[in-house]
This record gives sequence, C-alpha cells and structure tokens, in this order.
Amino acid sequence: MCGIVCYVGNNRAEPILIEGLKRLEYRGYDSSGLAVQDGSHIDHIRAVGKIVELEKAINGIDIKGTSGIAHTRWATHGEPTEHNAHPHSDEKGNVFIIHNGIIENYQSIKTRLEKKGVKFRSETDTEVLAHLIAQYFEGDLKEAVRKTMSQVEGTFGIAVIHRDLPGQIVVARRGSPLIIGVGEDGNFAASDVSAMVRYTKKVLHLNDNELAVITADGISIFTAQAKAVTRDAETVEWSAEDVDLDGFPHFMLKEIFEQPDTIRNAMRGRVDKGEGVPKLGGIMPVWDDLKECRHIVIVACGTSYYAGCVASYIFEKLTEIDVEVEVASEFRYRKLNFPPNTFIIAMSQSGETADTLSAIREARRKGARLLGIVNVVGSSISRETEAGIYNHAGPEIGVASTKIFISQLTILTLLALLLGRHHNMSLTDGVEAIRAMEKLPDQVKDILSKSNHIQAIAEKYYKYGNWLFLGRKYGYPIAMEGALKLKEISYIHAEGYAAGEMKHGPIALINPDMPTVAIAPLDSMYEKMINNIQEIKSRKGPVIAIVTEGDTMIKEIADDVIEIPPTLDFLYPILTVVPCQLLAYYCAQFLKRDIDKPRNLAKSVTVE
Ligand code: GLU
Repeated sequence: MCGIVCYVGNNRAEPILIEGLKRLEYRGYDSSGLAVQDGSHIDHIRAVGKIVELEKAINGIDIKGTSGIAHTRWATHGEPTEHNAHPHSDEKGNVFIIHNGIIENYQSIKTRLEKKGVKFRSETDTEVLAHLIAQYFEGDLKEAVRKTMSQVEGTFGIAVIHRDLPGQIVVARRGSPLIIGVGEDGNFAASDVSAMVRYTKKVLHLNDNELAVITADGISIFTAQAKAVTRDAETVEWSAEDVDLDGFPHFMLKEIFEQPDTIRNAMRGRVDKGEGVPKLGGIMPVWDDLKECRHIVIVACGTSYYAGCVASYIFEKLTEIDVEVEVASEFRYRKLNFPPNTFIIAMSQSGETADTLSAIREARRKGARLLGIVNVVGSSISRETEAGIYNHAGPEIGVASTKIFISQLTILTLLALLLGRHHNMSLTDGVEAIRAMEKLPDQVKDILSKSNHIQAIAEKYYKYGNWLFLGRKYGYPIAMEGALKLKEISYIHAEGYAAGEMKHGPIALINPDMPTVAIAPLDSMYEKMINNIQEIKSRKGPVIAIVTEGDTMIKEIADDVIEIPPTLDFLYPILTVVPCQLLAYYCAQFLKRDIDKPRNLAKSVTVE
C-alpha cells in the first residue's frame, strides 16, 4: 500500500526522492521518511503526515548524498508515529530499510531477537528485518538480505542500504510490487512507475522472491538461491505529463474528464467494424479454449468488482456463458469446484491487489484458467495470468477509481461481444453494438459538459448525511458503485440497492432527509424504476434521477434529473456512472474533503 522510491546515481538523491514520494502519496500515506547516504554518513529523517511534513523536517539540513531510500507508510503494525515511520534501522545504525507489506511471523522473530538482547524501537513488523539483516551481514549486503528473506513469512517489497557500502541499494520482493528503473544518470527502484517516469521509461520487473543489487551504473538480479538472472528492460508507455494535474483541482476530476479518451484507448485497434467483431490480441494465446468455455468467474475488489457485476449481465445477454462475480477476498476461502474449462478473469487497476492475486493463485491450484484485465503493464497479475487485456488508460492517481471502471466496462463489453459473435450473436447485432460503442466517447463528453448542473445538484444535497442509490439490472451495480464513490470521497453514508429490494427493507429509511439517486435510463427496467420513484415520492423522499434525454415521465415526479444520451441497454452503465462520479466529486468538494487522498484509503491495496 505504501510507496517506496530509491535512487543511486550522480545527482543529489534528496530532491529526486521527495519528488518520487509525492508521486506515490496517492497509494497510501500516514507518515514518511528517507535515508540518504554520503560515504559513511547517513541522513535519516522521518515525519508524521503528508510529504510536506517531511519537507519541513528536512528544511535547513544539507543532504548531500547521491544514493538513498524513501518511503510513504500506510501503517499496518503500530500507529503512524515518527518512530514507526520508515526507514528502520538496526541498533548500531548500520542497516536502513524501507518495507511495503506485512511480515506475518514478525512476532516470533521479535521474541527470539529480544531474548538475545536486541532492543526494538518501534511497534512495526518491519523492524525485525533491519535486525536480521544486520546480524547476517558479513560484508555482502545481498547475502544478508537473501538469508533474511528465507526467515520471513508474509509479503514484502524492500530496499536496504548499509553504512559500509555507499552507492549500493539492495531491493527484494515477495508479493508486494517493486520495479527497477534504468536511468541515464543513475538507477531507480520504486513500487510504481509514476515515481520515476520523470527520469526514465526503461524498467525491469522483479519476480517474487528475487532480489537485486543496484548501483549508479549497474543492476544485477538474483533468485532466492543466489543464481544470477538476466532480464531485458521494458519501456513504459506513460509520460511525465500523465502524472500531472494539468490545470484540474484534483486528479479525480481530471480522470473523470479523461473518460472519453479512456474509452477510445480501450477500443483503439480492437474492433473490426465491418464484421461486427472485436479483435483482442492479448487473449489469443488461450482463444481456442476460451471460445468453448461456458463458465467464467470474475474476481475483483471494490469498484472493479462492480464492473464485474455489470459484465455478468452483459455476458448473459450477448453470450452463452454463465458468469459469476466474486469479491476476491471471499473467493479464495471458498471450496472451489470449477466445471472443466472454467476461466477466471482477475481485474485490478494496479495489477497488484493482494486479495485478487491470492484469489488467482488459489484458482490456479484448483485447475482454473486465468485471464487478467489490468492497467499496469508488467504488474503481478499480468504476469501470473495466462493471457489478458490491458486497459491502456494511463495512470489512475485519484484513489477513488473512475476512468478505470469505465475502461473495464468497455473491455468486458468487447470481450462479451467477441465471444457472443462466436456463439449465436448475429452480424447485424455485432455491427450495431460496435457502432453504439463508438459513440460512447462523445456521449460521455456530452454528460461532462453538464457538470455545472450536476455541481448545482450536489450543492443542494451535500449536507444530507444518508443517501440511497437504486437501480435494476444493468443499473444495479451502478447504484452500488455510485454509493461507493460517495462514501469513499465525501464520507457521506450511502447504500446501493437493487431497486426491487427497496420494499423489502430500505424503504423504512425513506424520509425527507434521505435523498435517493435513481438510475433510470430508458431500458427494459424503465417502467419498474418509475414505480420505485413513485414509492419514494409518496414517502416524501427527495429523488435525483439519471434519465435518458427527452424523458418526460420521470421529470414530472423526480426533484432533480440528470440527462444522459440514449444508447443500447447494455451500454447504459458506461453513461449512467458518469453523473454518479461527478455527484460524489462535487459533494466531497463542498464538504472540503481531501478528494485525491481520502482518509484511511489507499490506491493500490497490496496487503490482504
Ligand atoms: N507493515 C509495515 C508497517 O506497518 C509496512 C506498511 C506499509 O506497507 O506501508 O510499517
């Protein structure tokens, strides 16, 4: 969850590390710190809070070193205090380490070390690593790290320096992300490319249980058995501008407004219009089996899970395949029993979501085939699945996911169309679907052009403490996603419900103080949604309805309406979610929330 950034080269490390930390802040943060080495001198500075606090702590200190490690922490063990912030060191202050993840057997190691007289200075699980490495160190830091790795259970992405070895950083990973950047004027390591894309686009991925020694002019990778590994660098497609705000007040708003391009990028080169068939090169390695498959399980967490829920309706409509959707953290504990030729689709923006990774490992053990839909090229999920499709959406920095949801929906729709066309979907239906999909970017743009209207609605309702979101069929997961967005960034309590379930319980909550957002486009559920809206109005509940342009019936009964352009029923989710995102955004803005860094949340959830 936290962010790691390291640099070793010819320039001063401190500004590079601080800049990198700022890029990583979105991943999770409650404190931060760095250790910069200059010969045998190490500047070690930590602070609670945002990176600006670390900058204040550094102010006035002349940090000269050209190699160093830095960390933003998302506490798992021990409160976010200065002494729990990373880097941690051994008692003599020789070893400094930063760590992302959880050392599961830290307690037994700690007890053992304490018996030997080691004094611990933090409540973190991480600190055991510093002491173990110091004990194993006999002049070779890589060896000391390697031996330590063999002692620990759990997940880690770590970077370590030693006072006796200036200009050398040892990194290692198991289960947590860690990427090495190959620069012109030095080398980097980070938990995510956004921290180094300003300096280099050439990256090397470490596999689980590998470690690497990084110096200003060399990178050597090793297996856990100390065997040298050769690996070619890959080039990342993101640019430095992708990680800038570009005039928007928040990344979330920037990313909402990027969505027309997000859809285009997800579709680019992926459709044969004349044949009404998508072309998805990434799944070709498994195509022969996939086209025969009749059972798919989508596993994901949070917003990606809701994209999966929408997809289950789309697959049901367009293909002969049964689709189940499972929350990854639950899926892995089930007694899994798949029919032959079952495919699992793992979806995650970062491709590093720990719950999703564990879920696919369990599914593989039980004989399922694995596909991935991820945004980050070369991420763990992309490497642990047999085939997959990239979002090509650029980095998503806002913690509350927006454009990736739309991208996932676009890609899942393309996949359903492709399979449907190989089942019994006609050429005309295929062509019609692709034509409608090609209109989506402009239609989303049209909705975005009404953002002032949506902002005005948010202004009217942002003080209400409890909201209900209702939808049916394709609109049901959008209701859940709309409620999640509102919760995540405005901290308003919201429930997403299947509209038909309302009278089985939540209707008891309806009163003039509880607004309901009704997802009510002109699809097959329209009449039923009108009934639900009537039921709410009869109980004096305020209603904000998301309707298709030209709708007159709902306009008469709802308090406020937001219009979206018409499309095919199974494409409506790509449009109806946009007003929900904007409503959440503007409510949070009126409430003066920290929108890109909502409390307690982290972007890339790399702990279970
Ligand atoms: N488990 C470590 C801690 O609590 C690392 C957490 C993180 O990944 O930021 O300090």
